[in-house]
Amino acid sequence: SSDKWEVDPADLTLDDAELGSGQFGVVLLGHWRELKVAVKMVRAGAMSEEDFKEEARVMMKLSHTKLVQLYGVCTQHAPMCLLFEFMEHGCLSDYLRNHRGSLPQGTLLAMCVDVCEGMAYLESANFIHRDLAARNCLVSENHVVKVSDFGMTRFVLDDQYTSSQGSKFPVKWSAPEVIQYSKFSSKSDVWSFGVLIWEVYNEGRMPYENRSNGEVVEALSAGLRLHKPKIAPEAVYQLMDWSWKEKPEDRPSFTLLFHQLLALSEL
Ligand code: ADP
Repeated sequence: SSDKWEVDPADLTLDDAELGSGQFGVVLLGHWRELKVAVKMVRAGAMSEEDFKEEARVMMKLSHTKLVQLYGVCTQHAPMCLLFEFMEHGCLSDYLRNHRGSLPQGTLLAMCVDVCEGMAYLESANFIHRDLAARNCLVSENHVVKVSDFGMTRFVLDDQYTSSQGSKFPVKWSAPEVIQYSKFSSKSDVWSFGVLIWEVYNEGRMPYENRSNGEVVEALSAGLRLHKPKIAPEAVYQLMDWSWKEKPEDRPSFTLLFHQLLALSEL
């Protein structure tokens, strides 16, 4: 069958350049038609491929300037590979670390606005990210930050990553209801977004640096929260703190956060 999302391997050339590696395997630079693409080569046993192929139809339809576009999948031969929009400057967390001390306030805020805009689009499409963090955002050639890897954790075959008890579970980005009973929602994404803003204003530092996952869970339930990053304006910290309300319904929506952040950037 010639599904629209199926990429013909004859149209794809892979460079030797490795862009990185992640949960599913290595990511290579490639060329597809006239486009530069990032190609995720899916390691055998790393992904529930049938479930993903089903969902790829939905994900291909998600299209926005602040989302890293999925172009298609190539399932003709093993390993299966996924073609994404190529993002010249790599992941946001590395970008922040590599530019420490040199990113102006306006740039930091613009990064948060970009991510929030992409997330407001996902929220309006009723699509939950489930693993929003600076490491899952990418920076384009024009320094636009885009949201990547949305919904992908559902296809990871690694209990250490998918179970909230697992050693690779992103506890430090997770809302309490996610840690306690895996209740994911756009409001749990909002919690993670608050942590992402904290990462941006701490220039890529690890949240709760000296605490274990267990200690973080304990501190959160005692009502403790991340502190205001030194260089963050008070108004920005208020938005973070609002995103970390215990009850999901007390947190703002992405649409609301987007308008608030935009207003701050126009000051
Ligand atoms: P996984 O989803 O398998 O965990 P990641 O998405 O974390 O993999 O990708 C691993 C690394 O590959 C990233 O940290 C980044 O450096 C690079 N990478 C991933 N996607 C892209 C892309 N679209 N453009 C450029 N580099 C990318």
